[in-house]
Amino acid sequence: MSLNSWGRVPHAPQQGHGCGWRSELAKAAARVVKGHGSTLPYGNGRSYGDSCLASSDQVLTMRRLDRLIEADWAAGVVEVEAGMTLAELLALAIPRGWFLPVTPGTQFATVGGAIANDVHGKNHHRRGTFGHHLISFSLLRHGEGSLHCSPDEQAELFAATIGGLGLTGIICAARIRLIPIRASQIDTQTVRFGGLDEFFALSETLDSQHEYAVAWVDCLARGAQRGRGVYIVGDHAAYGSLDTGGQPRLRVPLTPPVSLVNRYSLKPFNSLYWHAHPKVLTQGRSHYEPFFYPLDQILHWNRIYGRRGFQQYQCVLPERSARAALGQLLEQIAAAGEGSFLAVLKRCGHLRSPGLLSFPMAGVSLALDFPQSPALGERLFPRLDALVREAGGRLYPAKDAHMSGADFRHAYPAWERVEALRDPTLMSRFWNRVTQ
Ligand SMILES: Cc1cc2nc3c(=O)[nH]c(=O)nc-3n(C[C@H](O)[C@H](O)[C@H](O)COP(=O)(O)OP(=O)(O)OC[C@H]3O[C@@H](n4cnc5c(N)ncnc54)[C@H](O)[C@@H]3O)c2cc1C
Repeated sequence: MSLNSWGRVPHAPQQGHGCGWRSELAKAAARVVKGHGSTLPYGNGRSYGDSCLASSDQVLTMRRLDRLIEADWAAGVVEVEAGMTLAELLALAIPRGWFLPVTPGTQFATVGGAIANDVHGKNHHRRGTFGHHLISFSLLRHGEGSLHCSPDEQAELFAATIGGLGLTGIICAARIRLIPIRASQIDTQTVRFGGLDEFFALSETLDSQHEYAVAWVDCLARGAQRGRGVYIVGDHAAYGSLDTGGQPRLRVPLTPPVSLVNRYSLKPFNSLYWHAHPKVLTQGRSHYEPFFYPLDQILHWNRIYGRRGFQQYQCVLPERSARAALGQLLEQIAAAGEGSFLAVLKRCGHLRSPGLLSFPMAGVSLALDFPQSPALGERLFPRLDALVREAGGRLYPAKDAHMSGADFRHAYPAWERVEALRDPTLMSRFWNRVTQ
């Protein structure tokens, strides 16, 4: 079976080459390189664009390396193989009273993928990125064998590999520090807001008081309603049970020929969603899965975008320009009549990311999905890119299928250090596109 990225743009099916044992990884990689010139480690394909696609279209699949190697459950420190998913790690950790220190909006990412994109979550303002909680990892490099990397050993490779897009070597295993929890439920507070000023006021007052904070924005609302959305904060509950997943899941069984997401379905959905939320801050309690991973509840949800797939646009804007630039971005998106059911707005905190190419910066991140169409690349994205560039922001490589090489190199000036440390046998379509 061929593999792809989550958004299926570009359409570039990948041939997977698997390996079940860490001791065989070097040989497996060498075989692919010998036959095809280069390869790329592939986690679980939850990146949207082309950063998880090998330029040779021959990837080294990591999912079979999914074992727990060592755990100190008294201290909350685990060492796991890099192909373990976050869901599998949570299934081990939650019953023992531990949780991931940082989690993205899908639990189906692997530990290796989480490191290679230095993922962030709803608690960036408190705990920074995934890389902040890494103690060490082992990295397999062509001709060098397995290297132990930590802030004190191979420190430059450690920093280049966190957010290093799988180019500096194959992460075989990682040692991670977890956070303690008393229950797996999340105590929430939710309120809808009428515009961006209200969002910024809420975020200013409430983010720092809570572990998690996120907002959904109605990206199609215009005029007086522009920037309206729903703001949600959450904290691990102080009492309750330590249940793991297992919530019922729906499945999109097949890919329809055309996208089911269009302006006719989006507008009423977004409006209904907004009206369904309370006008005043309202307390609730949620299972951790719908709180962190609402989209994971529907397996293969990416199929609803049809055969052409979709692109996610995620940018982060620095504090100083975020308010004005966000308004302009939302105006352009609403005018184009395109966009996702819900756009995600997230305040990023000031903790400096440990990776050379980590995406977050202090400011605000906006993320939304668009059904694939030629108009995106021809009209909408160039306009959005210009606004992001002018605001001093940047796009997220994990979600990207269109960023220009010039924009990437300007926004990520450390790319040359990563290129210098790149394992020459590893190359992605993304890296080829933005650096060559
Ligand atoms: C619904 C959804 C919500 C998301 N929410 C967020 C979010 O909130 N925050 C966020 O930051 N991201 C988010 N993402 C993006 C996702 O977390 C990242 O793209 C993540 O890296 C995917 O992990 P993966 O295991 O699927 O890796 P892949 O997508 O397969 O690969 C990603 C990168 O990791 C590299 N890689 C994988 N395994 C290894 C390894 N063992 N050694 C070296 N390199 C490796 C690959 O080469 C590639 O460059 C979301 C994605 C989805 C689908």
